[in-house]
Amino acid sequence: MKFSVEKVVGGGRLGSILPAGRHENAVIETPMCTLFTKVGSAPHLGYDMLKRVSNIPDIATMSLGGLAPHHENIREFGKGLGEFTALKSNIIFTTLHDASFAITSGKNDRNGVALWGKGGKFKMDPSLYVKVQEAFRPDWFQALSDGDTDKDTGKKRLIKAVNNSLDFLDNTVQLLQKSEVLKNSSLIGAIQGGFDVEERQRSAKETSARPVHGFLIEGFEKGHSGLDLFSLESFSSLLAKTVSCLPENKPRIMETAWSPLQVLRAFKLGIDVFSSVYPYLLTQKGQALITDYTIPPKSASAELEREQSGDCLPPNSGLFIDLTNKSNFEDFRPVLPGCDCYCCSNFTRSYIHHLLNTSELLAYVLLMIHNFHQYFKFFSCLRKSAREGTLDDLQASLELQSS
Ligand SMILES: [Zn+2]
Repeated sequence: MKFSVEKVVGGGRLGSILPAGRHENAVIETPMCTLFTKVGSAPHLGYDMLKRVSNIPDIATMSLGGLAPHHENIREFGKGLGEFTALKSNIIFTTLHDASFAITSGKNDRNGVALWGKGGKFKMDPSLYVKVQEAFRPDWFQALSDGDTDKDTGKKRLIKAVNNSLDFLDNTVQLLQKSEVLKNSSLIGAIQGGFDVEERQRSAKETSARPVHGFLIEGFEKGHSGLDLFSLESFSSLLAKTVSCLPENKPRIMETAWSPLQVLRAFKLGIDVFSSVYPYLLTQKGQALITDYTIPPKSASAELEREQSGDCLPPNSGLFIDLTNKSNFEDFRPVLPGCDCYCCSNFTRSYIHHLLNTSELLAYVLLMIHNFHQYFKFFSCLRKSAREGTLDDLQASLELQSS
């Protein structure tokens, strides 16, 4: 994998990734997000329904918790996770943890990392880890690392988390030298260190000195949603100081569940690749993204929507409506008037409210289509805005809508 920066705008990087291996002819523009999946599939969407979503990201993340226990079956299948999950045209990026739920704390040690899936705990050491990745044949894979930290974690534990992660990385690099199957896969180093600047920078510098193709910055919230990270006074400064220790020519990835405004802020701090777990979490709550990305925003309608959504908006959450709310009972408009997604083209707020009330799974299918559509659209708008010099205007618009 190769990454190059075309232009720096407001601290953010307009760049492109040239993936190696199966996808050597693809060019992925950054900033961008990946397709969030559950056990190898887009949540709530079968393969045919996923095709109804526009601008599906080229990269699909698949967390190991639910998949690793089945690695022998997938090895037997013989063609890797991409073919196994029918997402063969996507770049498959295997990560350790499912970004939509918190990890169970206190189970990692110097010998390995605990992963969690429906079958419970699955402990992974570097040797088993490489064996599992050989069965999965991902295009990118996160290095085994200890991200069991948050803002309350003490220094001693943070040092251990960084040391464990570096030891796992060294062992993995050694094992990979003998792996013919993974020779074209890109290893993504994990940056740990919680909220300690010294440990974050040590992790960044030491990981950069190893043969990794990119960086996943994690270990801020033990896998919690992380929605409120930007409200912590120290977070932006900590992230900027961490990023300053990373080389310019490799992509920086974060899997935190962030609204469009939070993504924009992180982009300005130097993050290139994001997760699409945020629209999934909204969908689970019966909520729909209605952020207006136009500049200036058509704020009359946006303000009206915000008033109708009442007090369900936490700070910095972005603009969304809650379809479980009774006010939708006789609302025969689409979820977002003007949205050209399959959900908004065919169904009303009233119908989705009814589906949610009666616990029909179709509600989540339709909301997932709409939320993915709007979230993926945001990344096109973000790149366009950075390219055209209107990034600050877009930020002002998102701030206005989220205030
Ligand atoms: Zn829509």
